[in-house]
Amino acid sequence: MSSARLFVISAPSGCGKGTLIAELNKDFSIYNSISCTTRKPRDGEIDGVHYHFVTRKRFEQLIESDGFLEYASFAGNYYGTPRSAVEESLSNGKDVILEIEPQGAFQVKKKCPDAVMLFILPTSVASLDRRLHRRAKDSGETEEMIQKRLATAKGDIKCAYKYDYVMINGELNAAVSDIKKIYKAAKEGGELSDFAAENMKDRIDEVLKNA
Ligand code: 5GP
Repeated sequence: MSSARLFVISAPSGCGKGTLIAELNKDFSIYNSISCTTRKPRDGEIDGVHYHFVTRKRFEQLIESDGFLEYASFAGNYYGTPRSAVEESLSNGKDVILEIEPQGAFQVKKKCPDAVMLFILPTSVASLDRRLHRRAKDSGETEEMIQKRLATAKGDIKCAYKYDYVMINGELNAAVSDIKKIYKAAKEGGELSDFAAENMKDRIDEVLKNA
């Protein structure tokens, strides 16, 4: 049987999870699932690399044909994980990362109970606010869209208690080391109690209290 594992990673928009996952990819051979989305590409995003950018009609056809492992509606757009590429990678023995929001993450956990669920917390909601405003300068997102993302981010952080592991994206080197530690230990059966969600409860409470 294949020992490949499915990693589900969630973090609120603007938390910087992309950087951490890119660092993980430097050291390990992992397939990063490419989601379908109905949102418009941001500057620099390439179809088939960052996302498969599809129309709402195409997305709905894929739902109909059971083409998604999971899908969700987020900030007014659909996002979904194409099922076949994930299944193919796992059956070829290659680990898979899904970078998805909590509604989709819990759908995956239901279907694949062995999936490793990791939530990346920002140091504070204020740090997300700053990053989202900075990013909006390139993407042209309006203040209303930013506020929608922030409200969703707070809702997402409340879901962190239900993940297997929680880590903080604070100082970059420390966060890179943490995500590698979690990945290796989850694969090899190492000690992970420092990151267990039940032991991170106070940190999650703290981020929410100051939100
Ligand atoms: P963004 O628009 O910032 O790229 O992504 C918005 C949110 O959608 C992020 O939380 C991201 O993780 C999530 N997301 C990206 N792809 C998928 C997917 O295939 N399924 C689900 N459920 N969420 C996704």
